[in-house]
Amino acid sequence: MKKTISRRRFFNQTIGVSAGAMILPLTGFKFQDKGKAIRPVIITSHTNDTGKNAMETGWEILRNGGSAVDAVEKAVNVIELDPEDTSVGYGGLPNEDGVVQLDSSFMDGKTYSAGAVGCLENIKTPSSVAKLVMQHTDHVLLVGAGALAFAKAWGFREENLLTEKARKIWLRWKEDLSPDDDWGVPEHLRNLKSSTSYWKDFPEVEHHYGTTNVIAIDSNGDIAGCTSTSGLSFKINGRVGDSPIIGAGLYVDNEIGAAGATGRGEDVIKSCASYYIVLMMKAGRTPQQACEDAMQMIADRYRKVNPDYLPVEKFVAINKSGETGCAMMKGTRKPAMSVRTENGYNKQEGNIVFPDK
Ligand code: ASP
Repeated sequence: MKKTISRRRFFNQTIGVSAGAMILPLTGFKFQDKGKAIRPVIITSHTNDTGKNAMETGWEILRNGGSAVDAVEKAVNVIELDPEDTSVGYGGLPNEDGVVQLDSSFMDGKTYSAGAVGCLENIKTPSSVAKLVMQHTDHVLLVGAGALAFAKAWGFREENLLTEKARKIWLRWKEDLSPDDDWGVPEHLRNLKSSTSYWKDFPEVEHHYGTTNVIAIDSNGDIAGCTSTSGLSFKINGRVGDSPIIGAGLYVDNEIGAAGATGRGEDVIKSCASYYIVLMMKAGRTPQQACEDAMQMIADRYRKVNPDYLPVEKFVAINKSGETGCAMMKGTRKPAMSVRTENGYNKQEGNIVFPDK
């Protein structure tokens, strides 16, 4: 049975620490290094209503003494099952052939275990399959048909992941690809066609990117994280991004903290960005500084090759003490992340490392 942590106990924990932890009885109370109290926390890179719901779902588990692994899985499932979200799980935008292929990774800091799936088709919650790879195999990454067979062996039901909305966006994208192919209105009407583009027809689809990172610290101080995505929209069939690559789209170290990435996965893979962020935190950088360090490192690598090139990336990180940070490579709108603690739900802003001039 799960151990229940009451609101009162949280309160005592907090007061106990701020009062120097000397006077109040703190039996059974856990401390991190240097007498700091463990405060459960869950974060996600998602900041919409679904992200908030996901945080409440995960928080309920943490509040009742559940594990970071369970809190993260249930929170990610909320986002994966949202049909309106075109970047994660069910409803995600498909590859260039109109097939939804999902990537996800899971890491458990407590047991130093990891699991992941790449190019998984027909399963709405790839994070749960990644968790099973982590807990019930001696492997880390399963892809394609093998990942699907594994999911089915565990009782997952195959379902069509391509929603009407995603299908229409995909078809519109196809029609816009080239005036020289046969997709779109008949040729004799083409020059009459108003110049709407697929972006204008689907203003709610802001970009080709989108992924979710969810990370939690539980009441034992153990850290777990998950990254889940439908990957770059209209990617080449079979393309695997950074999300299921441990060290790239996700990394968790129980002694230091964790980080997750969204954005152009090719750059995240080459830079091992999440691992880099965790190493920077180990070296004493705050989560915010570490996320910005990773952006700088990627920019530096391109400087000699193409000084005008900066990939779109967003990183989130949390350290063992529960401090958080997030950074965006470029743009005009400050990046944000969702944070849920005993103090409630908060949207926290980070920094743009190279703001548009
Ligand atoms: N990182 C994901 C990928 O490259 C996509 C994204 O985050 O937008 O597959």
